[in-house]
Amino acid sequence: MSVLIFVDTADGHVKKASLECLSYGAKLAEQTGTTAEGVVLGSSSEDLSALGRYDVKKIHHVNDKSLDHFDAQVFTDVISQVVKASGAKVVVFSNNPDGKAIAPRLSANLKAGLVSGAVALPDTGSGFTVKKNVFSGKAFANVSLVTDIKIIALNANAYKIQEGDGVAEVVPFTATIPASKIKVIATNKSSGEVPLTEAEIVVSGGRGLKGPENWGIVEDLAHSLHAALACSRPVADAHWRPHNEHVGQTGIAIAPNLYIAIGISGAIQHLAGVNRSKVIVVINKDPEAPFFKAADYGIVGDAFEVVPRLTEAIKKFR
Ligand SMILES: Cc1cc2nc3c(=O)[nH]c(=O)nc-3n(C[C@H](O)[C@H](O)[C@H](O)COP(=O)(O)OP(=O)(O)OC[C@H]3O[C@@H](n4cnc5c(N)ncnc54)[C@H](O)[C@@H]3O)c2cc1C
Repeated sequence: MSVLIFVDTADGHVKKASLECLSYGAKLAEQTGTTAEGVVLGSSSEDLSALGRYDVKKIHHVNDKSLDHFDAQVFTDVISQVVKASGAKVVVFSNNPDGKAIAPRLSANLKAGLVSGAVALPDTGSGFTVKKNVFSGKAFANVSLVTDIKIIALNANAYKIQEGDGVAEVVPFTATIPASKIKVIATNKSSGEVPLTEAEIVVSGGRGLKGPENWGIVEDLAHSLHAALACSRPVADAHWRPHNEHVGQTGIAIAPNLYIAIGISGAIQHLAGVNRSKVIVVINKDPEAPFFKAADYGIVGDAFEVVPRLTEAIKKFR
């Protein structure tokens, strides 16, 4: 019963979230006395054998150009073939947009139980119970999987990347690739320096900034930290910022190491998308702003005074 980890890539590069999944899957394999294997779809510009650093023994590589474009139905079909051929009993995904699109389909395809939003290694003492986030991170549930094949979609930042010095065997996998039912007409990439979902540091602005003309101070702070930019929903709704920067329950869910929220009140729908950040810093002039309850560090003050001074201090420090 091996553990199979889906290695998600972007432009041929392995995403950070997948490194967490590889480390998680390898630990789970060790815990259950089996081996961890990865599966990569499409061409890759990386040396896949180096993924052995995360203690996976084998990488199944379906190296077909048609898989360079993400298509959830096609990916599900191909991964299903790899699961069947490898005899994997546990499949691990990141709970990122790609994982969220494939894992439920694979669950239906293989009649496999799925836990999405997992935050810890399963308890395999008696049975197979996985802890997951529920109610937008307000509570946890422990879910027992009783199916033969089990699928886990792991939340970002829930498991620390563990690196060793192993080397994985890369095995080409010849899959029957179904014809795609979708046609990509155009691809518009967001122009930010760092993709929001991959960013280690995110600087985010809310309605407290009064208008788009004031975003310069947010951008300066972000540049000084090499951070990605984000915003609250009303900011995107008012077209102060593009919608691809909107984070929260109805926007993008992120889990950076550092999230700096400027002039954002901290409504539950906003927190739902950012509360998995490791460290949260809140800058708000209202000491009663709900965001302070979720913050690791808080600055009560006017953003227009605090943010330029903070940027100045960071530039000096660097
Ligand atoms: C179904 C549903 C889904 C939603 N999904 C999302 C979502 O995905 N993401 C999201 O963000 N919201 C979402 N919302 C909206 C959410 O409820 C809040 O309305 C929104 O997050 C508030 O945005 P804000 O904090 O920028 O603005 P406000 O609530 O107006 O807060 C502005 C804050 O700025 C502070 N401020 C003002 N001036 C200054 C200054 N000079 N310096 C420092 N601080 C200052 C104020 O004290 C205040 O705390 C959703 C709502 C619903 C009903």
